[in-house]
Formats: sequence, structure tokens, C-alpha cells
Amino acid sequence: MSIKVTSVTKIYKTQKALNEVSFSADKGQIIGFLGPNGAGKSTMMKILTGFIKPNSGKVFVNDIDVLQNTLEAQKVIGYLPEHNPLYNDMYIREYLQFQAAIFKVDKNEIETCIKKVGLEVEAHKKIHQLSKGYQQRVGIAAAILHNPKVLILDEPTTGLDPNQLVEIRALIKELGKDKTVLFSTHIMQEVEAVCDHVIIIKKGEIIIDKKLSELQNKNQQIIKVILNVELENSQFLQLENLILSEKIDKNSWYLTFKTNEDMRSKVFDFAQKNNFKILELSLENKTLENLFTELTSN
Ligand code: ADP
Repeated sequence: MSIKVTSVTKIYKTQKALNEVSFSADKGQIIGFLGPNGAGKSTMMKILTGFIKPNSGKVFVNDIDVLQNTLEAQKVIGYLPEHNPLYNDMYIREYLQFQAAIFKVDKNEIETCIKKVGLEVEAHKKIHQLSKGYQQRVGIAAAILHNPKVLILDEPTTGLDPNQLVEIRALIKELGKDKTVLFSTHIMQEVEAVCDHVIIIKKGEIIIDKKLSELQNKNQQIIKVILNVELENSQFLQLENLILSEKIDKNSWYLTFKTNEDMRSKVFDFAQKNNFKILELSLENKTLENLFTELTSN
């Protein structure tokens, strides 16, 4: 197991930031760590990387106990904190040499990392001369210099423009080919673009821990129907493949079907057969973004 977190609780004075959090990640997974602001994402990442201690619980990275053996664990972890801590007056190579010395990494690795994160064209510049997207690349280069097995990226795409977003997402995906990557974000589309696993955290507790494919529920569809009459739940049971009927208001319903077949014509036939009139019939596009909003809103 690359990451194993068991019953982690963290309390800052009176504020409980994490409550009995447990999850694990296999080698080679890219995990999206999602949650609204204040959910506890950064706190979990600081604990995973050994920068702060929890009040209780266990944390293992690559089978190393992070709480007991912090330095050993940090050797296999690459970490990009939320506020990328760069020395802006340094040249890129100068900064990476400084990082290489800390991790006792051969200086030849610097050029390999510069290439890996696509910094070649800008590599002669000072860090403050770079755009935010390129500064993020420097942060990622510094995080992967010692070839860590596990990469922890805290909101790596915040503040990037749309082009930079696409580039950094592609980079994360590339890095995920030979590393376990846990990255936090509050953007569901980002998770869809990059991850194979999703963990959603809300108010310090994990509410979803699933494969992306499980969450996407590809063979489920929701149809909104408004009729001219008020029906009972049981009357919809005649409909094939129906798994849920939810009343929105008097005559309006959400009908959830488990099938790949477009069920709108079946709903139409159902209405005709029973002599109801359909006032509105539409396929609801319930994206992961809707799901995230629903799950994390109050
Ligand atoms: P996220 O990264 O999901 O935005 P955080 O882990 O930063 O969430 O914060 C979780 C909760 O813990 C928030 O309510 C935040 O205000 C609180 N918190 C974070 N750091 C500290 C701290 N050093 N002292 C006190 N409270 C903190």
C-alpha cells in the first residue's frame, strides 16, 4: 500500500479539522482529494508529509510510519504545499541545486527534472520572472527531484489560467504513470480529467472514497417529468428499469433509471397508456459537478 491513513483526528485548539479519517491508496493511483475550503485537505496533507502531527491515528507512506519515522518517510514523498514556497530571487537552476543539496540528490537529476516538467525554455530565468504556471512547474520539479514514490500536491492548479490548467493537469497525469499521486482541488472537472480515484472530504470527514468510474454511474439516467396530474410513487412502478422516483413538487418528478436505453419514449408511452398528459419531459444532465455540489453543500 502506498498510502495508509487510519483513524486520523486533528484538533487545532478548539477546532476539529479531521475526525477519524481513514483511507488508503495503491501504488500507481492518481487520487483526487476533493472538498470545499476548510474541509481539512491541507491538514491531511501536512500530516501525511510529516509536517504536523495528528492528535491520534496512524499514517503510513510506502509502509513507513510517518509519525515514528518522519525523515525516512519524507525521503519517499514529494510535496508541493498549497502556497508554493519558492525563493523568488533565485534562478531556477540555482533553486533546484539548493533543493538537490537538501535531498542529497545528484545534480544531474536537475536537468532531467527540468525536462520532465517542461521548463527548458524558461530555465535561464529567475523565479519571479516566471508566470504562475511556470512557477508551479518549478515547485513540482523541486518535489520530484529525489524521485519520490508518492507525490502530494496541495491545490497545484489554483490560480492558473485555462491553458496552464490543461498543461499542469497533463503533467500530473504523466507523473502518475510511475508514482502514486494525491492531489487536492475543489474542482470536480479536474478530477474527471486526471484521476482514477476520488476522495471527497467535508468538515473533516470522508464522505466519498470511490473509483471515478463508480462515481460516474455511466448506465444511470435521470429524467425530469411534469404531468398534468398528481401521482403516487407506486404508480411509477410500471416503468421498466426504474430505480428511484423523487417528487420535486406537486406534479413534477425526477425518475432515475438503470439502463443505457433512452427512457424518455418509455415515459411518454407510460403517460399515454394511463391517460396522463406530459407538460415537460427532459433528460437531466447530472454531472459529477452537480454531485459534488449536492454532497458538500449544507
Ligand atoms: P482545506 O485545505 O480543505 O481548505 P484546512 O485543512 O486548511 O482545509 O483547514 C481545516 C480547518 O482547520 C479549517 O476550519 C481551518 O480554519 C482550520 N485550521 C487549519 N489550520 C489551522 C491552524 N494552524 N490553526 C487553527 N485552525 C486551523
